[in-house]
Amino acid sequence: MKIRLGPSGIPISCKYNNSIEGVKRVAQIGLNAMEVSYTHGVRMSLATSKELGEVAKKLDVELSVHVPYYINLASIDEEKIKASKKRILKSLERGHLMNATVAAVHVGYYGKDKDLANKKIYQGCKEICDEIEHNGWKTLLGIETMGKQKAWGTLDEIIAICKKLKNVIPYIDFAHVYARNGGYIDYKEIFDKLEILKLKKIHSHFSGIKYSLSGAGKGNEIRHVPIKEAGPDFKELAKKILKRKLNITIISESPILEMDSLLMKSIFERLGYKF
Ligand SMILES: [Zn+2]
Repeated sequence: MKIRLGPSGIPISCKYNNSIEGVKRVAQIGLNAMEVSYTHGVRMSLATSKELGEVAKKLDVELSVHVPYYINLASIDEEKIKASKKRILKSLERGHLMNATVAAVHVGYYGKDKDLANKKIYQGCKEICDEIEHNGWKTLLGIETMGKQKAWGTLDEIIAICKKLKNVIPYIDFAHVYARNGGYIDYKEIFDKLEILKLKKIHSHFSGIKYSLSGAGKGNEIRHVPIKEAGPDFKELAKKILKRKLNITIISESPILEMDSLLMKSIFERLGYKF
């Protein structure tokens, strides 16, 4: 088993606003993963992506990317779907050049017709998979579990798509699952459900999360917070991972980024895992 931990984006303690320096800082503080966050647009050049990959490889830092937030593969406006796909493909192309394992994406919203949204999202993912195949890209599409009732992306919905398509895996955001369930998470159930996909490795986000209740025990995320400030319980997750000997990467989406990655590391070490 192998556990990888690191921040979503450049560490706060990095002096430069630059992903290459960010990766160096990640390695320096004893972490081994970093997510390159294209949250507000894909602006990184192809050459920089390649260089970033070389630096990360040398330092044994695993990279992943996060596709920009403005994505809706279930939009009723075809132009919006087209623009969404373009952003996803741009992220994947850079991901491939930097040897990123996966590109996390928030795929869309249910809108007024849930069945139609299901169909559109499946179709969109299929077309992206075909592009991955066609281009020989090694970066997988990681569909993220979402934290709001209106956002498409429960674990079951995502697994249903991943069963049908190559190059697509669930990207587990544990905090989102917890918030969406109104402050509840069953780690065992999640790992049991994932078994059907026979993943070599699980990719995930973790942080504390504030949420509101929207009736019938259902929740909506409000914001990510440090692990110590709110659930879900990280130690319980760490125990389950060690018990099942899972290969997993956990990216910290906490506002204190790498500080919480280091907290996760110390929790794993106290439970006996050696990095
Ligand atoms: Zn995300």
